[in-house]
Amino acid sequence: MSLNKAPKNYVFYRNQNWIYPRIERGEGIYLIGEDGKRYIDGCSGSAVANIGHGNKEVAEFAKQHIERIAFTHLSRWTVDSIEKCAERIVNWCPEGLNHVYFVSGGSEATETAIKMARQYFVERDGHKTSKWKVISKWNSYHGATMGSLSMTGSIGRRKIYDPFLANFPKINQFYHYRNPWGAKTLEETSLLAAEELEKEILRHGPENIAAFISEPVVGSAAPGVHPDKIYFQRVREICDKYDVIFIMDEVMSGSGRTGKRMASEHFEAKPDILVVAKGLSSGYTPIGAAVCNDEIFNTIMVEGSGHFIHGHTYAGNPLSCGIADKVMEIIERENYIENCAIQGDYLVGRLEDLYNYPVVGDIRGKGLMIGIEFVKDQETKEPFQVSENVKGKITVNGLEEGLVVYPGGGSVDGVRGDHILLAPPINITKEEVDLLFDKLEKAIKKTT
Ligand code: PLP
Repeated sequence: MSLNKAPKNYVFYRNQNWIYPRIERGEGIYLIGEDGKRYIDGCSGSAVANIGHGNKEVAEFAKQHIERIAFTHLSRWTVDSIEKCAERIVNWCPEGLNHVYFVSGGSEATETAIKMARQYFVERDGHKTSKWKVISKWNSYHGATMGSLSMTGSIGRRKIYDPFLANFPKINQFYHYRNPWGAKTLEETSLLAAEELEKEILRHGPENIAAFISEPVVGSAAPGVHPDKIYFQRVREICDKYDVIFIMDEVMSGSGRTGKRMASEHFEAKPDILVVAKGLSSGYTPIGAAVCNDEIFNTIMVEGSGHFIHGHTYAGNPLSCGIADKVMEIIERENYIENCAIQGDYLVGRLEDLYNYPVVGDIRGKGLMIGIEFVKDQETKEPFQVSENVKGKITVNGLEEGLVVYPGGGSVDGVRGDHILLAPPINITKEEVDLLFDKLEKAIKKTT
C-alpha cells in the first residue's frame, strides 16, 4: 500500500475531504476559527454542546475537581460527584428509573442497555432463557460499536461491517413523511409502526426477543422525526404483553435538548431502560449512562448474582460525573429547558417560510432538535440522488455564511436521505435564532 497523498498531520480524521477551518475557541453559541471568523454552532457539534462554549462556571468547577482527584475505579470506590450526578439524572428521568450505570458515551450506553436486558433474563430465568434478540428500526442510529451498530438501522453505516453484526430484526420507523403504509395522519403512522413491533415479536417468537429499542425523536438517521404519543403507549402495552424490555435511546434527545428534561416526557413514555450521553455534560467531558428500573436492578444486583458482567475503565469517571452534574445544575438554575421550548417554537415558526423554496420537503422536530429534509419534488417527495449531495452543498454554503449545520445520514429505500439537523445550544436567544435563520436561508437560496 502506498500513500499517494501526504497526511495533513497525524490525526486520522473521519473525512479526507476536509472543509472545516481549525477552531481556536468557542464562546456561547459561536465557534471561532484561527482567522477570527465566527460560526454559529447551529448543531452544537452533534447536539452535544447544550449550554454553549466557554462556560466559566464549568471551567472553574473542573479546575477544582482535577486538583482534588484524578481518578477512582468504580468497582472499588465512590466519590460525591458520582453520587450527586446519578441522583440528578434519576430526577430528570421518567418515574421508576432509579439506577444509573455510567459509561463514556452513547454507543457504550446502548450496548450496556442490551447487556443489562440479556443478563436480566438470564438471572431471572436461568441460563435456559432463549431471549437475546433486540428489535430496532430502519432509519435509526444507536451507535458505531458492534452491538450498537447491530441495532443501528442506517444502511450506509452497516454495510461493510455486516459480517461482524448480530442478526437483530428491524422494523419500519415512525417516519410519517415517508411512511410505507400511505397513512394520512401522524397518529395513523404511529399505530401502524407500533403494530409492526407486535408482528415482528410474533414472527421471531417472544421467547427469543429480549428488548426493543427506539429513539423518541430520531437523530442523525432522520433528524427530528417523531411519533404521536400513542406510539409509546402501544409499545409499552406490547412489551408488557410479550415480556420484552423497552429501551429508550435518549443519547441525543435527552438532557434538555427537546424542551423537556428527557424527550420521553413529551410522549409520557415509560421505558424500562433509558440511555443518555452527548448533552449530559454539554461536551465538556465524555460521559454516558444507562438508567434502569428497580425490577432489572433488583433481579441482577439484589436477588441475583449481584454482579453485572460488564464494565469500562472510565465508567463513573469522577470529573465527568461532576461536570455533568454541574451542567444539569446550571440548566435547572437558568431555566434553559424552558428557553429551549420557547426558542424551538420560535425557530420552527420562522422555518415555515422555507417551504417557499421547492427543495424543502419537510420540517419536523421537538424543542431545539429540528430536522429539515430536502427533496427534488415537493409534490411527489422524490428524494435527491446521493451524487446530487444537496445537504452537503447547503452545509458548505452555510459555513461560508458563518453557520454550522449537521448533515444527517440515513437512507430512504437505498437513496440517502437529504436532511440537516438544527440543534443550537439550548440557551440561544431570540436574536441569535433570527441570525441563525437568516444565515440558513441564505445558504439554501445559494444552493437552489
Ligand atoms: N444513539 C443515538 C440516538 C445517537 O444519536 C448517537 C450518536 O449520534 C449514539 C447513540 C452513539 O453515541 P456516541 O457517538 O456517543 O457513541
